[in-house]
Amino acid sequence: MRTLQLPLPEALEDTMISDFMERVSFLSAHIVHVALSEEESMIEVTVDKMGDKEAISTAFSNLSSNIAQLRRFREKEIKSNIHLSSEPVHSKLSEEDQKRSFYDEVELELSNYFDQLFLNIGISLGAKVRRYPSTISKDLMEKCKYHTNFPQNIYSVFEIPHDYQIIDDIREKHHGFQPEHFQQAGRFLQPCICYHCYEEWEGKTYTDNQMMTATGQCFRHEISWKVDPLRKIEFSMREIVFIGHQEFINETRKTLLENTWECFHQLGLSGKVTTANDPFFFYDDMDKANYQLMANSKYELVAVTEKKDVSIASFNDCGEMLCERFHISGEDGLPLYSGCAAFGIDRWVQVFLQTYGRNRKDWPKDMLHLKEERYAAK
Ligand SMILES: [Zn+2]
Repeated sequence: MRTLQLPLPEALEDTMISDFMERVSFLSAHIVHVALSEEESMIEVTVDKMGDKEAISTAFSNLSSNIAQLRRFREKEIKSNIHLSSEPVHSKLSEEDQKRSFYDEVELELSNYFDQLFLNIGISLGAKVRRYPSTISKDLMEKCKYHTNFPQNIYSVFEIPHDYQIIDDIREKHHGFQPEHFQQAGRFLQPCICYHCYEEWEGKTYTDNQMMTATGQCFRHEISWKVDPLRKIEFSMREIVFIGHQEFINETRKTLLENTWECFHQLGLSGKVTTANDPFFFYDDMDKANYQLMANSKYELVAVTEKKDVSIASFNDCGEMLCERFHISGEDGLPLYSGCAAFGIDRWVQVFLQTYGRNRKDWPKDMLHLKEERYAAK
């Protein structure tokens, strides 16, 4: 292990430092830690044995010189109940529980609870239920442009060709798996659920608004040393996806946000709802209108936990963008509008456990009422 001391770019505003450090983590797979140095104007980058110090320094200067393009939307707070929590939220989980890679009966019960709660919220608004494959095609990936927005997060599926020579090589010659034994399957592990819905609606014309909900395992290639129970490589997510006229999208997004906030608050969890605060690079090919749209396109429900604030649900307005790409139109032949709400089930489980611990006796009494009566399917 070696540590590089690299200078923070002068043009960087204080509020952008953590976003910048996030970017630095992605410069090389050999970076094992990034920290702000005691001397404020430096960043300490820890590199493993294999890391090429020079290449990392070069990549760092490139990133620094592009810093003018890194923006963060000013976060607007829409709701908050943080001031209401009488005692500080503290972790009631052991280190061991935090490190486990599987769910036991307690986590499973909560995971099912939250998934059904959001399913019920969707159904109560008329959502149809779906189950989709865990992978998406190359074609779908390209249409959604996930690969241009977040290439670092993608997992691709590889397969062994049905070729006697290769199979023989692995089985008989005991060579084990070699990279050359595999070929790309042309499919990717799904990074989110809603792409499948757009694929189902693709090329169609609708006179009525449409809404669907589905849940599934999603996959994102995270930096290994940042992986923890709140940032997992594989996680379950439920989405409620809707298309229709602009007012319907606005209304539905608002209702979903209100209903979710009500549940969150009733469950005694602590947090806030804010507008998007995703850091991103502002590329020259993005026009101002697009930028404006993005600034209000995402509401996030952020839970406050002992260690960090974590986004556990988002409510997205996609404008006409996705319907346009998938040729989904209304009676007038124009593209419909769309939106989605996404719920990170594992994070809800963690936040809940960090608030109440694993003993059911300590859990809120009206949990079941909330799921089975308030939002029961009508
Ligand atoms: Zn979505």
